[in-house]
Amino acid sequence: MGSIGSRLQEVKGRIARACRAAGRAENSVTLLAVSKTFDAAAVRLAHAAGQRRFGENYVQEALAKIAALVDLRAQVEWHLIGPLQSNKTRPVAEAFDWVHSVDRLKVAERLAEQRPSGLAPLQLCLQVNVSDEASKSGVAVHEAAALAAAVAALPREKVHLRGLMAIPEPAADEEAQRAPHRRLAELLQAINAQQGLALDTLSMGMSADLEAAVLEGATMVRVGTAIFGAR
Ligand SMILES: *Cc1c(COP(=O)(O)O)cnc(C)c1O
Repeated sequence: MGSIGSRLQEVKGRIARACRAAGRAENSVTLLAVSKTFDAAAVRLAHAAGQRRFGENYVQEALAKIAALVDLRAQVEWHLIGPLQSNKTRPVAEAFDWVHSVDRLKVAERLAEQRPSGLAPLQLCLQVNVSDEASKSGVAVHEAAALAAAVAALPREKVHLRGLMAIPEPAADEEAQRAPHRRLAELLQAINAQQGLALDTLSMGMSADLEAAVLEGATMVRVGTAIFGAR
């Protein structure tokens, strides 16, 4: 499979081709390297290859990695993309730059209360259940606008609502795969129009479906396996 550096280049090539196919500028999509289950040494290799944004799923695992890579802290962004319970928010408010998985007002309120004053605002996305399965986490599509309005009203110097995130189910072909990504993109536009917001982030697309996501307007793709290997 080659080195982390060469796989990063391959993923950037896929993003660039998808951007060209969509008529979008290549720099309109940010690559988040999902380093969950890989150790600090792997993150260091990706950093050496130029990667600066990393996504983590599990709070305790991430905190250990952030501590092990404290020498890089000023150069990298840490994004929490995994589920977050409201009793686990404090270390997240203190250590991360972004949280993509906000699905309840309580979590956003606690992050706002607990964000240390010396730090830049924590950047937030609402996780939306675009597959509408009862088992999936994320706010329901029909409840997302009200949650966005409430989160956007929290103190801006503490938390800044940036957009929406989704983890669509795998689909049989690219056309079917595009549908849930399109739903998320349309929801972002509707929320901006209805609530008078300027949300600018669509966090969608992973190793298997990043092309479908970019074709539907993803601004941030979260890629693990295609960079670091199988987990
Ligand atoms: C693990 C994970 C990813 C990355 O998935 P890959 O298929 O390994 O690219 C992206 N987003 C979330 C929320 C994840 O949990």
